[in-house]
Amino acid sequence: MNRIRSLLIRLGAVVWIAAGSQPDASAQVTASADFDNGSMGRMRLSAETRRPAAGRDSIGVVSLEVRSRVDPADPYDPKAWPNSRWFHFRLQGVKERLLLLRIPNTELERPFYSYDGRSYRRMDAGALIRPQTLLVAAERDTLYFAYFLPYTHERHTTKAEQWSRSPYVVCREIGRSGGGVPLTMLVVTDPEVPDVGKRRVWIHSRVHPSEAPAAWHLEAMIEELLADRPLSRQLRRNTVFHIVPEPNPDGVIGGYSRTTAEGINLETDWDRPDSLTSPEVAALKRLLALLADEQPMDVVLNLHSQRAPFVTYWIHTPESSSQQMYRRKMLLSALTIGHTPYYRPIDQRFSTLDPKYAEGWLWKRYGERTLAVTFETTYSYYNADPQGEWVSAENLAELAHSSLLALSDLLDLGGEERLLLDCEAEAGRGWETRSDDDRLYFGDSFRIARRKGAAFTYSAPATLPAGRYEVYKWVPGALAARFSEGENRWKPLGVTIRKRRGPLRFRYRAAAAGDPLDAVLLVRIADE
Ligand SMILES: [Zn+2]
Repeated sequence: MNRIRSLLIRLGAVVWIAAGSQPDASAQVTASADFDNGSMGRMRLSAETRRPAAGRDSIGVVSLEVRSRVDPADPYDPKAWPNSRWFHFRLQGVKERLLLLRIPNTELERPFYSYDGRSYRRMDAGALIRPQTLLVAAERDTLYFAYFLPYTHERHTTKAEQWSRSPYVVCREIGRSGGGVPLTMLVVTDPEVPDVGKRRVWIHSRVHPSEAPAAWHLEAMIEELLADRPLSRQLRRNTVFHIVPEPNPDGVIGGYSRTTAEGINLETDWDRPDSLTSPEVAALKRLLALLADEQPMDVVLNLHSQRAPFVTYWIHTPESSSQQMYRRKMLLSALTIGHTPYYRPIDQRFSTLDPKYAEGWLWKRYGERTLAVTFETTYSYYNADPQGEWVSAENLAELAHSSLLALSDLLDLGGEERLLLDCEAEAGRGWETRSDDDRLYFGDSFRIARRKGAAFTYSAPATLPAGRYEVYKWVPGALAARFSEGENRWKPLGVTIRKRRGPLRFRYRAAAAGDPLDAVLLVRIADE
């Protein structure tokens, strides 16, 4: 009894309500997943036992095992090993019972639960009483469990419908899934500004349907792109975004882990002959090729989520791409690190480009014209620190903001809100031009001061509005998997004030001989 009582006290997440009548011991606990994004494998239920409990005659204890459902086998690749991971199921008949819930074939740390299938919370750490087993006391009869905060197909269609009402969005059906569900693309830009001269960015998310954090991450990016905020306005003026939030709707609806309902892993479906290519990937390829005829994408972001408890890009090695492409991906990675506490240099990951992936397919066609890279969010906690912050829709939105800042700085999309000035366009006496292979910098070169006090003048365009601007300089650091906090980042230099609209000349003086200089960034902080 003491054991039961102490367990009850530890259940912070799901609170046991002691009041109420005895449950009907004959009522069976049932499990189901016949809803949008629901998923469960085999369930095994043991007979209910009754244990003595404080303040009542006894408590029913039900042991049940629910497996994560294994994805269907790939019909074209017998060597592909089907995965399990995702679970999202509903238990009924659980009120005032203690549940010993074992989910053996997936990672089980702090899953999410809900009483209504709409509002979900992460369970407290104490609910995991031993590996793969939760102890839960339910206060209502129905209880949902999910691997991560679910992002349903219904949420996708509701949001897409809402976004399509924005004057900055054109919503297009680009094809149909294997199950006949429309694949939706949003084109986000400012229609008042001609598309000629704008940068092109493509983002798709969650080809692996269990990777719901990627969907929350992208949702927040889209919300920010459509917001009535200065930087959002600049991003829309300078960029055409092509966004496919849900390229695998059958996988999302059916609650698969990594495949479509046919067992196809869309992530590795890019180099198959057309006759064997899934309709989903065929639609993405068709559209990317069509758009590239006009102008290849500058950046393609492929948003995923990984089991490992940190976020990262999969940066392609220079050997499998090129030194220049490697440098630009490392720059995007370093910029992202600089804008968020949730990504660290030691978490950077590297991979070999392969034509079976979207990135390899794009590289073969567009080479250095298109920077294509996968970004992984995570499900559990950041920075490999379980004592730190756990992943939520809120901090994924913060990460989305960082992703947009990094993209803005990489492609100089921020207009007068985040103006990038590279030193390449400028002359400067007392400076040596360098293009070291082992440093990370913007463009093709950076400068090194020959002596202390060497001056370098940056010029901003005449259209720069009046205002207060924070000024940062890029510190070109090691082009390496690991770098220290002081390098490969924007270093603040101070604030400059523009009284009137007009050209701005900004003079930098070397602090010492050897002082490196590369791009500077002007961030507008207020109107003057
Ligand atoms: Zn993935």
